[in-house]
Amino acid sequence: MSITTVKNTLWIKQPKAVFTANQQNADNGIVVDLNSGKIIELVAKNQQPQSPINQIYNASDQVLLPGLINTHHHLYQTLTRAFPPALNKRLFPWLQTLYPVWAKLQPDMLNAATQLGLAELVLSGATTVADHHYLFPDALSEAIDIQVNAASQINCRVTLTRGSMSLGEKDGGLPPQTTVQTDSQILDDSERLIKRYHQNTEGSKLNIALAPCSPFSVTTELMQATAKLARQYQVQLHTHLAETEDENRFCIKMFGMRPLDYLESVDWLANDVWLAHGIHFNDEEIKRLGQAKVGICHCPSSNMVLASGICRTKELQAAGVKVGLGVDGSASNDGSNMIQEVRQALLINRLRYQADEITHLDALYWATKGSAQVLGRNDIGELAVGKQADLALFDLAEPRFSGSHDPLAALILCGAHKAKAVMCAGNWLVKNHQLLSSDINELQHIHQNAAKRLVQYNG
Ligand SMILES: [Zn+2]
Repeated sequence: MSITTVKNTLWIKQPKAVFTANQQNADNGIVVDLNSGKIIELVAKNQQPQSPINQIYNASDQVLLPGLINTHHHLYQTLTRAFPPALNKRLFPWLQTLYPVWAKLQPDMLNAATQLGLAELVLSGATTVADHHYLFPDALSEAIDIQVNAASQINCRVTLTRGSMSLGEKDGGLPPQTTVQTDSQILDDSERLIKRYHQNTEGSKLNIALAPCSPFSVTTELMQATAKLARQYQVQLHTHLAETEDENRFCIKMFGMRPLDYLESVDWLANDVWLAHGIHFNDEEIKRLGQAKVGICHCPSSNMVLASGICRTKELQAAGVKVGLGVDGSASNDGSNMIQEVRQALLINRLRYQADEITHLDALYWATKGSAQVLGRNDIGELAVGKQADLALFDLAEPRFSGSHDPLAALILCGAHKAKAVMCAGNWLVKNHQLLSSDINELQHIHQNAAKRLVQYNG
């Protein structure tokens, strides 16, 4: 008896416009094998699919994109959006205001924040999210385990980074002592999490990475040991770097060198590393970053909110750096909306470069294939045969799009903010603008209560 695999195919038929992120022609749509969760065919203009088709999704009034990929977030911060004591502050005082509040975070709050933040991102067209969680007060020693469960509820792809802080205020760091752990606590838990959860397979829904909060909140020994551990298990490394000029001064004072020199000194200048922000690099540093093929997560909204500066995206890309996009934590970008972040990326880059030097397609590329490269993945971030069926569809049915002519440009320039439908690994996560996995109103209610309680602890 021969065993044949029966395909269950879906044709996303004749979208109004399509962005594949690789310049291949999929004008008449794509065919997905819902069993394997992969794209099996791109259908060129005026062509019909070659594969037998079981189901059709009529996309004639929609724009088709690869699922958007957010490469930097702190989901727990959704609990402190627009928090009065932290408004209108510079990065370091902003952090010092928020750290004691965040130190009171409880497991149910982190669960609610992770689910709500992921839901918000998915509704905006995201299918993959990297979260940077670095707060492990006593109540949250199993923070990443909580996030693993929360992410499985929403059913998108995640890279959960096991963050860390080991240098508290008494050692010259920024965070309060109650939020820091010892190097051995951090390393033991990191190894446990990699062994337990890291999938490291094509189509992985859950990867683990290691991520000291910043080089100024952990010891030099921990930076080195984290890199060693990550390489032992072949997981990625992540941290914040070159976010503000203050950071450069702080680093010179603390280590006698600029942030990138310090990074190199602890063996972090390598292609398994991605850095959030990456704004304040000089020409020579950009060259070194490119040679090492480091990834940079550009966070436009956060950089504007905190007046951090503008990432040198074009120079970084030209040097060989992988550039992706991130919304960053909700406390410094009060929204977690990926399609809006694409627009923000276009706009902030227009302040640095000329109008004909950065287009909406560049910004879309960062949010898709660029972000996939930053996360070390070649199975997502583009529409191509053999890639994961991760996609987002947007309709242009709101007044904001009325009178527009180029549907792809309209999506970004007119300010799309919610996806009509989202698919991850061949599973629908959103249909008709609605989240399928959870009741969003209930999630919001639980999350709002958690936010109130968190702030009351500090009142
Ligand atoms: Zn951040």
